[in-house]
Amino acid sequence: MDIEQFRKAGYAAIDSICDYYSTISEIPVKAQVQPGYLIDQLPKEAPVEGEEFAEISNDFQRQIIPGITHWQSPSFFAYFPSNSTFESMLADLYSASVTNPGFNWVCSPACTELEQVVVEWAARMLGLAEKFWGSSGIGGGVIMGSASDSAFTASIAARERALRVLSSQKGVERSANGQIDIPDSIRQEYGQKLVVYGSTQTHSLGAKAALMLGLPFRAVSVSIEDQYSLTGESVKQAIEKDVQDGLIPFLVYATVGTTSTGAVDRIAEIGEVLKEYPTTFLHVDAAWAGVAYALPEYRESLRLKEVNEYADSFCTNYHKWGLTTFDCSIFCVKDRKDLTQALDVTPPFLRSKEADEGTVIDYRNWQPALGRRFRSIKLWFVLRSFGINGFQKHLENGIEQCQQLAKIVEQSSTFEIVTPPSLALLVFRLKPSSSSPEEVSEDELNILNQNLHDRLNSRYDVFLTQTVLHSKEKNIFCIRLAMGGRYTTFQDVKKTWDIIESEGEEVLRGWKK
Ligand code: PLP
Repeated sequence: MDIEQFRKAGYAAIDSICDYYSTISEIPVKAQVQPGYLIDQLPKEAPVEGEEFAEISNDFQRQIIPGITHWQSPSFFAYFPSNSTFESMLADLYSASVTNPGFNWVCSPACTELEQVVVEWAARMLGLAEKFWGSSGIGGGVIMGSASDSAFTASIAARERALRVLSSQKGVERSANGQIDIPDSIRQEYGQKLVVYGSTQTHSLGAKAALMLGLPFRAVSVSIEDQYSLTGESVKQAIEKDVQDGLIPFLVYATVGTTSTGAVDRIAEIGEVLKEYPTTFLHVDAAWAGVAYALPEYRESLRLKEVNEYADSFCTNYHKWGLTTFDCSIFCVKDRKDLTQALDVTPPFLRSKEADEGTVIDYRNWQPALGRRFRSIKLWFVLRSFGINGFQKHLENGIEQCQQLAKIVEQSSTFEIVTPPSLALLVFRLKPSSSSPEEVSEDELNILNQNLHDRLNSRYDVFLTQTVLHSKEKNIFCIRLAMGGRYTTFQDVKKTWDIIESEGEEVLRGWKK
């Protein structure tokens, strides 16, 4: 493809994207295909001779679009939103046009410096403490591909910091550069005794990070009474038991806005417990809910002050509710040395004069991978185009829709809200009213709701995800409706709710027979 062909194909691509967005509300949200649909259509090998681009892009419409689940559909209520915006789509195009792996400042100074600037904008907008965004030069932020990458990176930083603390406790002296180099003997003696903690509600990222490090993950139980939040007391008990068994606590994953119900862990309580254990590190995963800190009135309930005081690192995904096309996960640390001392491996070919002089950041030392995408452009475009006001308005829309829906569900005689509405997330279940003559056990309710979810899941015009709330008291199967889509209106929410109600009636009809 030459420049003129690119120009033509580029205009055509934008046209077809515009057509897609003009009609997206009329397309069923779920892909109506069976497993293997695409594999069966495509040749087993790449073509020997190049093909016409018009044909290739036709095949995108003909073969790929039918297999797309429309996350940008106004009727998408599964998982959490993964909003895309035209601003960030264009930014990704510009980013691709100057592709560079951005690992060192010198790879493209704009790539590093724009990231420094927009992470600061993003963190300031959320009210994160200055120590996290780094004009002090002690903490700082970086854009990662996902909250899971951020959590894994935090786990490496935490492990290395714990081993340095243990080295120092065992009398290892600082080397000439002021750092503690962890001796092999310390790694061998303590490396496998480290333990990670989260709750049964922590996203899979906690257990996965522990798995990747080959270390145990303790999923601490939560209770309905505490609204599924991890408490300081339960962390303390779990830690004390491990310490008695000769193990060493080193990392706690706390969540602000759990995936199942939007629960907010008791950060201050947990932080106070961790003060007793100098080997520990507190990472706060606010992948979904963190952007809501942009609304000052939600900062208290989402425990921002506690995050600012106690967290060692924090992550939120602008690529979920935050209007920025996947991927854009902001990861901030209180002390950037936690990352660089764990991840800076610099062979001669990666050295640069500016880095040697200490005047620039080389983000490769803040993440496991070397190369990295130029992600900051899309967040820059989004924050400039929407402004803080526009960003807040978008969040408020999702929250308002959730409040409106909650009122409807509260009045329903066949449904109940299971946990208090959290921002734009409503968790509910089918529950015949207490005036109904039948007695319904919790097990039966779980089966009824599983049936309801199966019925909903077999349709293509709605998409919702289920969850099971594990707690000390009982396990509850329920359904989540996650609002906050860029193009979703309350009419779209109501349309989906009407479908849920009528499927619920069908389930109850079958059950009563
Ligand atoms: N943490 C929470 C609370 C989430 O809800 C999710 C996804 O929904 C994640 C982490 C995972 O995010 P990512 O896909 O960016 O790793």
